[in-house]
Amino acid sequence: MPVVQHLCILGSTGSIGVSTLDVVARHPERFKIHALTAHSRIETLADQAARHAARVVVVPDDAARRRFLAAWPAGRARPEIRVGAQALADTAADPAVTAVMAAIVGAAGLPGALAAARAGKRVLLANKEALVAAGGLFMQAVRDNGAELLPIDSEHNAIFQCLPQSADRSKAPARPAAGVRRLLLTASGGPFRRTALDQLEHVTPDQACAHPNWRMGRKISVDSATMLNKGLEVIEAHWLFAMPLDRIQVVIHPQSVVHSMVEYLDGSILAQLGQPDMRTPIAYGLGYPDRLDSGVGLLELTRLGHLDFETPDLQRFPCLGLSLDALRQGQGACIALNAANEVAVAGFLQGKIRYTQIPDIIAHCLDESARRDAIPPASLDEVLALDARARRTASGYCRLA
Ligand code: NAD
Ligand code: MG
Repeated sequence: MPVVQHLCILGSTGSIGVSTLDVVARHPERFKIHALTAHSRIETLADQAARHAARVVVVPDDAARRRFLAAWPAGRARPEIRVGAQALADTAADPAVTAVMAAIVGAAGLPGALAAARAGKRVLLANKEALVAAGGLFMQAVRDNGAELLPIDSEHNAIFQCLPQSADRSKAPARPAAGVRRLLLTASGGPFRRTALDQLEHVTPDQACAHPNWRMGRKISVDSATMLNKGLEVIEAHWLFAMPLDRIQVVIHPQSVVHSMVEYLDGSILAQLGQPDMRTPIAYGLGYPDRLDSGVGLLELTRLGHLDFETPDLQRFPCLGLSLDALRQGQGACIALNAANEVAVAGFLQGKIRYTQIPDIIAHCLDESARRDAIPPASLDEVLALDARARRTASGYCRLA
């Protein structure tokens, strides 16, 4: 009999949260839903909590609590409703929880993910921004508290699957795995890989969110279009696999079938392939070390015919270059990169700035950070303070832009 996991899903109403519940529902003997959390779409949260018999839900404020109560089906035993960010972090660390899916979008997901690591949970990490903002702190918390870290981002999950099968690879190893030369991170190139450069300033939010291969939340969809997402993923890979920047290569692969690769010293390259469907990495993290049915269809290679690879053009994708600069610059710069991008992408999605202004705002905040952030932050509070300051700088610059 498999061990039953008691799950807490942070951000259950989002794209990753919904896919996680889809996989969970296929294996009722393995998973119980202890807690679900959401920031918006509270009616969807109520529906999920009823269907999966959640014991606890966490909502952001009292208005959301009232909406949850109004949406709850009459006569059904109701979950405990907790309110606010501290309740969310406490729930991730709850002794009744064995595994936490960290699927909140943005740096807002950091406190919950970190609380799970500090409580020694199995952490399924989709929320890459947590590692970008606080990679050192987070990995140390995994090591110090005997937590288990399973990457859910498809590229990092692919690399994890292709690494040597050592028992400690889920324990935040402090140095690169033996025998590995480089990590090869694949990227689709997004919807604007072939768009004329002079057209980019006119692209709309809907065009930017129309990803050719993946269905995702709007923020990560814009990040995929700018390739800032791949920049965040280079930083994520740096922390997850203790890999220096010069041993991580980004390769454009438009079909999104090879999810990433590990290159070994002997010339071997191991790759993980599959349909572009997040249920595969989610099922891997949920079942590890067992393999579970994820509901994902088979990949017919003969129908695909060929796989293509190209070098990313940093003129087309300035956000990728800025991300690599931030990693070289240090932790304060990575916080500024992420915070500035969150503000810029929200501004773009609301129609306040143009697509091509996103890199300008990030570059401005990185310059500010270079002048001010000499000492890396040593605590969550210091990370959050730098994040808040970068958001103020970015918002001010957005208004000028
Ligand atoms: P999404 O926007 O679809 O969902 C985000 C979830 O977080 C929702 O449940 C929302 O209610 C919650 N949330 C938003 N702001 C919050 C806040 N301030 N406090 C608490 N909760 C909040 O996002 P998504 O596409 O599912 O992505 C989630 C994370 O997973 C992101 O970090 C993303 O980069 C990463 N990721 C997503 C995909 C994908 O295919 N969607 C793939 C790889 C990695
Ligand atoms: Mg990814």
